[in-house]
Amino acid sequence: MTKWVYRFGDGAAEGHAEMKDLLGGKGAGLAEMSNLGLPVPPGFTITTEVCTYYYARGKSYPAELRKQVGEALAEIEHSCGARFGDPENPLLVSVRSGARVSMPGMMDTVLNLGLNDRVVEGLARQSGDERFAYDSYRRFIQMYGQVVLGIENHFEELLENHKLDKGVSLDTDLSADDWRTLVAGFKDLVAQELGRPFPEEPQEQLWGAIGAVFGSWMNPRAVTYRRLHDIPADWGTAVNVQAMVFGNMGADCATGVAFTRNPSTGADEFYGEYLVNAQGEDVVAGIRTPQHLTIAGKEANKSALPAMEEVMPRVFDELCQVRRVLEDHYRDMQDIEFTVQRGKLWMLQTRSGKRTAQAALKIAVSLVEEDVITREEAIRRIEPASLDQLLHPTLDPKAKTVVLVRGLPASPGAASGEIVFTAEEAESRASRGEAVILVRIETSPEDIHGMHAAKGILTTRGGMTSHAAVVARGMGRPCVAGAGDLRVDYAARTIAARNTVLSAGETITINGSTGEVMVGAVPTIQPGLSRDFATLMEWADAIREMKVRANAETAVDARMARRFGAEGIGLSRTEHMFFQADRIDAMRRVIMAEDETGRRAGLAELLPMQRKDFAEIFRIMKGFPVTIRLLDPPLHEFLPKTEAEFGEMARLTGKDVSATRQRALALHEVNPMLGHRGCRLGITYPEIYEMQAAAIFEAAVLVTKETGEAVEPEIMVPLIATKKEFDILKAIIDRVGSEVMERAGVTLPYLVGTMIELPRAALRAGEIAETAEFFSFGTNDLTQTVFGLSRDDAARFAGAYQRLGIFEHDPFVTLDIAGVGELVRIAAERGRTTRPGLKLGICGEHGGDPASIGFCQAVGLDYVSCSPYRVPIARLAAAQAVLAGEGGDASV
Ligand code: PEP
Ligand code: MG
Repeated sequence: MTKWVYRFGDGAAEGHAEMKDLLGGKGAGLAEMSNLGLPVPPGFTITTEVCTYYYARGKSYPAELRKQVGEALAEIEHSCGARFGDPENPLLVSVRSGARVSMPGMMDTVLNLGLNDRVVEGLARQSGDERFAYDSYRRFIQMYGQVVLGIENHFEELLENHKLDKGVSLDTDLSADDWRTLVAGFKDLVAQELGRPFPEEPQEQLWGAIGAVFGSWMNPRAVTYRRLHDIPADWGTAVNVQAMVFGNMGADCATGVAFTRNPSTGADEFYGEYLVNAQGEDVVAGIRTPQHLTIAGKEANKSALPAMEEVMPRVFDELCQVRRVLEDHYRDMQDIEFTVQRGKLWMLQTRSGKRTAQAALKIAVSLVEEDVITREEAIRRIEPASLDQLLHPTLDPKAKTVVLVRGLPASPGAASGEIVFTAEEAESRASRGEAVILVRIETSPEDIHGMHAAKGILTTRGGMTSHAAVVARGMGRPCVAGAGDLRVDYAARTIAARNTVLSAGETITINGSTGEVMVGAVPTIQPGLSRDFATLMEWADAIREMKVRANAETAVDARMARRFGAEGIGLSRTEHMFFQADRIDAMRRVIMAEDETGRRAGLAELLPMQRKDFAEIFRIMKGFPVTIRLLDPPLHEFLPKTEAEFGEMARLTGKDVSATRQRALALHEVNPMLGHRGCRLGITYPEIYEMQAAAIFEAAVLVTKETGEAVEPEIMVPLIATKKEFDILKAIIDRVGSEVMERAGVTLPYLVGTMIELPRAALRAGEIAETAEFFSFGTNDLTQTVFGLSRDDAARFAGAYQRLGIFEHDPFVTLDIAGVGELVRIAAERGRTTRPGLKLGICGEHGGDPASIGFCQAVGLDYVSCSPYRVPIARLAAAQAVLAGEGGDASV
């Protein structure tokens, strides 16, 4: 016979902490606390399997369930010395949901169950407190009415009207008779709404509540929550039925919630709130101001209300012991709920407490130092993505804010600044030291300099992988994208949402971690990198096998990368070096030139700038490898588009406007992402790569002479599909290299390798590795070409595809292992068969995504490369990948 019901309480339980799948988090916690001998009101858990059964069999229960519930209830009666439904000596119970993982506030709870017109009299006699008994009764009717009977909440209206009639404002001003009158009113309301009386029979009440909890598993709130948190519907919820204990029986009663350590800072201090003479919901409902547990907490928050430590010192001591027992046992910070009934402490819940990234680090490091957990456990416990919170400025949590509109939390961190609408304005204002937020309907590559100059970016269109979002994340700029309720009027230079209109120059604040856009400047705090951060990173570095490099092309980003622990540069996108205002024109002249002479003229201007940039990066990355990618500009990013730009271009080149327009049209591509870019440009206009190779070698010579230490550049050819393409270009690079080195009289080590970012290159990796000296997987383009879906357009339906379950994840964020990953694996294997020890890395966005990093470890990459702000995340994820089963599971 299947066991559907597990008992707990009285120093023993049938379940334990490891049974969360079956008992839910709450049920497992109650069982474990019982086993530890902590004071837990007796009760039982109906398993999640009953929930699964219930939905699989047309909302019916297993045949044995009633009997098992009856026996377990009898057990509670026995241990409490009271009987369910007995007016002489009543037992009341609570009925609560509890899934495997906490889904706060998503499902239903009923308290004080078992009361009716006769039992309430018994409760009044037994407690000696008629007011308490009728208050409990009306709470029960209200909760049961809403949760089980589905009655709209007009109960509060009745209560408020009654208080008005009596001329009082507080619930505590009402007497037993008032509550009695209200109970009658509440029951009338139920009868009217329902067409039948409120159920008086306790067994009927119990089964009604059990059904309602199972039913709440499928309520729209819970369904949405599960979707957002990837919780499968077939996990089901358990139902916990437990003897009621009352925190609202008088001044020697209380109820509270606490964390065993501070969940914001991680400090080893008892942290929590309680209320005297109150029932559980009162603490969270915000009707009364909760009081602090400890004197220290009270003083830190300048509260005038007494701490539990002062009011109930004996119970407080007992609670402190429970805190130690639970932490020692669970070896982690716990979030607990308790009730004090007439001076006796009862524990109602324990679970691993939610915490900020800062707290998570402090707690993990402290627990290692206290010899409670190992370094490996500490590393496993930190969610790599959460480190983002520590690296970007955050809003002062104490600040008051007015939220104008909400968009997508596209790039974490917060920033305040004056509204500007163009990249040019952003740049010029920023150069005068002003803080600006660049507000655009959407951004394009031409806005990059403005995005860089701005403190933050706000767009009204586009998703989490829109241009604005990706670029902002890469730069570490806070960004709110796709704030669809905001209207941008470029002509009027205003933004508007609801009834608020703001003009250029007015100040807003964006929070890229939550998607909020706020009016005015909200103060931010720049979190310094803590000692705990450094310690955990050190531990991670000792474990990880892959190196972590950064994608960077500016000195600022390169320095940032070093500060975050990057061990070199895995991708320097040289085309990004031309976005600056003083270079883009020369670059445009190169692209628009009709012939080689014209191109060479533009290139000659660019060469010294490139050389200077490369030298700077070599200096910053002294002793570490630097991979420089030759030019890969999707042409449309550089072509003039508007009449004004044609005019400007014509002026620059001395040509007439119509010829300029003509040339731009001739260069126009149907799909620039699949166009004349990458090595195709190098093949057709070899002078471009010649110039770049010369700049790289000259810079390497310069810095080698300067420092006396050989710089070893890794020169990378983008977007090859065939070996022939690579060979032609490698020959050019080698020739230029020899010329430069001969002129300089030095010999430098260098490598020439390629990106693997097209499916054909991945499949032909075996032959490409005959000449290519390293591979770097460009999984951005590889994802585009495998899915036949451009990166910029993906945002339009990636969300819908995820909701429909077609995409499990956005493939531009988390590597699609089945398709893109398969090609990476094939290329890695074939490449290394030809050239054992071939150096392999990844430089697509996936190089900074923790889940994708696990895959990189599994296929044996030597390094991952990601934007500077993701370097710490990658360091930690790479260590976790090693711990997750010596290389993770490559077959996922
Ligand atoms: C890639 O394709 O993954 C890559 C890193 O190159 P880019 O994003 O510059 O196309
Ligand atoms: Mg690419």
